[in-house]
Amino acid sequence: SGSEVRWKRIVFKPSGEALAGPSGKGLDGATLDHTADDIIELRQGLGVDVAVVVGGGNWWRGRTGSLEGMDATQSDHIGMLGTVMNALALQDALERKGQPTRVQSAIEMPRIAEAYIRRRAVRHLEKGRVVIFAAGTGNPFFTTDTAAALRAAEIEADALVKGTHSGVDGVYDADPRTNPDAKKYETVGYSEVISKELKVMDATAVTFCKENGIPIVVFDMSAPGALRQILTGGQVGTIVQ
Ligand code: UDP
Repeated sequence: SGSEVRWKRIVFKPSGEALAGPSGKGLDGATLDHTADDIIELRQGLGVDVAVVVGGGNWWRGRTGSLEGMDATQSDHIGMLGTVMNALALQDALERKGQPTRVQSAIEMPRIAEAYIRRRAVRHLEKGRVVIFAAGTGNPFFTTDTAAALRAAEIEADALVKGTHSGVDGVYDADPRTNPDAKKYETVGYSEVISKELKVMDATAVTFCKENGIPIVVFDMSAPGALRQILTGGQVGTIVQ
């Protein structure tokens, strides 16, 4: 029942790589399927309003390697288009399971998605639809983490839940992959994340959440049932608050 739920409305942010298969590139049917199940469990099982901001790193990692000379804005436009592909694939996975959805894009593409309109997004959530926000903020020089923080503030979400697929199940005081003494935080303050440059989200996104009082949960999406546990008060990942 609703009273057991920690937050009534969340923004869920899967990284692009968390929607890809083991290769980290492109899209993977089984991964999309599991992600859709986890979202539906929140929406239908727990009655939580779920808005999703999708990343795009499975398609585009910016102007690296032989693309080094590319214009920065041009590169970011390509990156944002990648997130639209992820949004449409996740929409398909959710709707094939009977979950109504809307995709809203920060870059207008009326043939394939609604434009981002805050009031309309909130109305969709109130009607039990999952809203997927595509194209980040619509602006170059930002990240989808910052887009997730921005949308969370706009729709008055209670928390930003960031799913990674790094094999790292939260925030540590050092890199646990190279340092066996690294300690995991259950909770950590925004200021500590910023001052110690802990790997959570980019500093712009963390600062934005701090200024707007939005708690951030970072967790490893590959653990089954983790999203549900987060919403029902289980100790999963790390909370930044
Ligand atoms: N991007 C952007 N503006 C935004 C959000 C994203 O220009 O508001 C670009 C970003 O530079 C990157 C791409 O879109 O090239 C994909 O986003 P991101 O790397 O944040 O995705 P993730 O790391 O979560 O997969």
